[in-house]
Amino acid sequence: MPDFISMHEPEIRLAAFAGVLVLMAVLEAALPRRMAGVTRGWRWLTNLSLAAIGTLLLRLGMPLLATGVALEAERRGFGLFHQLEAPYALAFLLSFLALDLLVYGQHVLFHKVGFLWRLHRVHHADTHVDVTTGIRFHPVEILMSMGIKMAAVALLGAPAAAVILFEVVLNAAAMFNHSNLRIGEKADRILRLFIVTPDMHRVHHSVYHDEHDMNYGFSLSLWDRLFGTWRAEPRDGHIAMKLGLDEYPAPQPEGLGWSLINPFAGTAFPPQPKRRERMT
Ligand SMILES: [Zn+2]
Ligand SMILES: [Zn+2]
Repeated sequence: MPDFISMHEPEIRLAAFAGVLVLMAVLEAALPRRMAGVTRGWRWLTNLSLAAIGTLLLRLGMPLLATGVALEAERRGFGLFHQLEAPYALAFLLSFLALDLLVYGQHVLFHKVGFLWRLHRVHHADTHVDVTTGIRFHPVEILMSMGIKMAAVALLGAPAAAVILFEVVLNAAAMFNHSNLRIGEKADRILRLFIVTPDMHRVHHSVYHDEHDMNYGFSLSLWDRLFGTWRAEPRDGHIAMKLGLDEYPAPQPEGLGWSLINPFAGTAFPPQPKRRERMT
């Protein structure tokens, strides 16, 4: 089974990506959480194009990808779990958790370090958050993330099937937790005990910096609780809260050219307007 999975990795990933994208797009259109202040047109084209460019560059520049590294490490007996001859199930589970923790840590870093924030702010500049925001990342950020992941996979000696499952889950989770989907308070309360829900991640897209420096998780909600970066609700509420970055009002971030050039323009951290206090 693991061999079958690693042989058909591109097809599995593409099918999962397209399936979840269409599913979340239909669901968020039927059950929207917020009314979109901006139209889909150019925004969607830009967000989808960024994902396509990033994927193309990855396949051209790093054709081995994380799965290839995992298979190579397996062949050479390289990496922690191979060295320890850890049981497969244990190596699988711990690899999955370690990779999710890595993505959490990397996300924090991309907010704190100037040149990394320049790349990551393209994701945050989206003035509406929906399923396509989940795949809106600057291509250089995508390449850097893959480089970090490949190094981690090699050092861990992570099983290839665990790496593929992690990639599929991460991609699906990003599209789910960025979707503008109304899932109901009760369901959200239960789900967020385990995974990152759309309401939880929306806080991370607030224009207020103290809110967008919270809820860094993408798949498991565990890490934010553990490391004290958890915020349950935005101070202005989910319907009234403003999304994006104050310094980049709509429609600028909807342009593909703007999104590609933005990391190389302006200052990394422009001075922020005074934080508005809670109204109630
Ligand atoms: Zn972020
Ligand atoms: Zn996000």
